Amino acid sequence: MIIAVASGKGGTGKTTVSTGLFYYLKKYHQDPVQLVDCDVEEPDCHIFLDAEWISGIPVSVSMPEINKEKCTFCGKCKETCAFNAIIMLPAAEFIEVVNDMCHACGACSYVCPEDAIREVSGEIGEINNYRWSVDNDFSEGRIKVGNTLQTRVIRQTLKYLQKEGVVILDAPPGTSCPVVAVVTKADYVVMVTEPTPFGLYDLKLMNETVRQINKKHGVVINKAGLQYDPLYQYLDSQNIPIIGEIPFKREYARFCSEGKILPAEDKKLEETFGRIFESIMNGK
Ligand code: SF4
Ligand code: SF4
Repeated sequence: MIIAVASGKGGTGKTTVSTGLFYYLKKYHQDPVQLVDCDVEEPDCHIFLDAEWISGIPVSVSMPEINKEKCTFCGKCKETCAFNAIIMLPAAEFIEVVNDMCHACGACSYVCPEDAIREVSGEIGEINNYRWSVDNDFSEGRIKVGNTLQTRVIRQTLKYLQKEGVVILDAPPGTSCPVVAVVTKADYVVMVTEPTPFGLYDLKLMNETVRQINKKHGVVINKAGLQYDPLYQYLDSQNIPIIGEIPFKREYARFCSEGKILPAEDKKLEETFGRIFESIMNGK
């Protein structure tokens, strides 16, 4: 069973829900449970889990390297590159690949008539494995600062999912390719939102994405209690089940800012996460 926890924007409580669900299942579920932080630009589950780092696996791709001795500065590689990742100044006999813009597509080496471009391995990120209660029950993908190949790091991270039990994927915020790479893996998508105009706007985008890829889904409302009826009206009109609500409380905000897992601090929230999991199992 793979559960993706997603939200249309950052800061809505996605990590609160991922880590809360992980905590609850580790405490009460018999089968193995794994949490994988796929928010590779800013993985932050580790702040809440205080887990022991076990190992790191580099994530590499084939990057082009230009041999300036062979290059005739014909410009074919630069014209072909859809990502403007090649800088060429023929007068100065200068040509270089900007690695942070390169998408490692291989087109430049394919078109080079002089065989002046070879592909070399370049590291773009890493996968960190941790021990929370057992080895590798928590992992995270982490992209190198400035690199743009999030989806590559995510896809590599997703290769290390455990085969049995429950896997919780903390998806990146938004609705672009990296998020789609995560939610397509899931059996059920938990969409986290908050009762505000911004929360509703981003939820609509996320809902469209999830529907297009035809995934079972439900909503957890964080900061519930803020009066914003349009959110509830929208959920009703779209037949989206509310599978849990985390009340808006100053105390909860403080727990989160201190890096504490909510259901570990409040018994009522432990019950809330129990009901969330029950709803996921009934809806899958
Ligand atoms: S590998 Fe692709 S993205 Fe990178 S420089 Fe070559 S053509 Fe551009
Ligand atoms: S295609 Fe090859 S020869 Fe032409 S500019 Fe690029 S690297 Fe140089």
